[in-house]
Amino acid sequence: MMYKGVAWVLSVGNELLIGRVVNTNAAWLASKLTFLGYVVKRIVVVPDEEDAIVEVFKEALRRADVVISTGGLGPTPDDITNLAFCKALGVEPVVNQEALKMIKEKYEARGYPMTPEREKMAKMPPGAKPLPNPVGTAPGVLYEHQGKIVVLLPGVPREMEAIFENYVEPLLRERGPPVYFAEQLLIVRGVPEADVAPIIREVLKIDPRLYVKSHPKGFEVDAPLLHIHIYASAEDRERAAALVENASEQLRQILLSKFGDRVEVSKG
Ligand code: ATP
Repeated sequence: MMYKGVAWVLSVGNELLIGRVVNTNAAWLASKLTFLGYVVKRIVVVPDEEDAIVEVFKEALRRADVVISTGGLGPTPDDITNLAFCKALGVEPVVNQEALKMIKEKYEARGYPMTPEREKMAKMPPGAKPLPNPVGTAPGVLYEHQGKIVVLLPGVPREMEAIFENYVEPLLRERGPPVYFAEQLLIVRGVPEADVAPIIREVLKIDPRLYVKSHPKGFEVDAPLLHIHIYASAEDRERAAALVENASEQLRQILLSKFGDRVEVSKG
């Protein structure tokens, strides 16, 4: 696979670790990052505990080019992501004046005064840039350092999606060489996954920019049904699409020639 850089997605929140909230933010971000040409190497969920958040940021800063976190930016005492991130960098948080203004305007428009809890949402590392939150109150945080990008986003899905799409996506798209991602789903009935595996291995040899993975959806022996996900990334959109189309066609032909009437292949 070809890619612009390695990305890590960090999800902060006890609610994710007790199974009360499903981590849809990480899936949404992983899909966005993949289509933007990054390779997501890790998704990590950590509790609202300072040590855990500091540790995971330190490791992510060592190993990823792009780090996106969600959760823990709000006004309550358990929202500590911004402060823990400063600790991971080894810097003292400062009140960012631009962020403070964004927060003040939101609260004062509805007649609420500023409080230390609300001011806390404006704290970030020196040099960080606040990202306006069009839906909620806590701004996102953008920090660029030694060629790496770290973005802290709120946990509420609508807020994190809006900030990402408005401010982060354009930035990530422009970085690095152009990379385009294409995918296709092939639905295969009648052949067990174990018999399809060697064929997939063959198809994978066509091009290193290609990836093919089968997902069993039926019953391996009694009623085999496979979803075969074919994807590729390349320097232009047409090339990525052609790689996927060619792999899909080869896979279909080998399956038909090997299993004849037993197999049914269709596009998903
Ligand atoms: P805000 O600034 O709006 O208060 P926050 O950054 O403090 O947001 P959290 O308090 O961590 O966000 O999360 C708020 C809510 O967002 C959670 O109660 C949960 O419903 C939802 N949420 C948090 N993380 C995720 C996630 N990874 N996937 C899906 N939903 C999430």
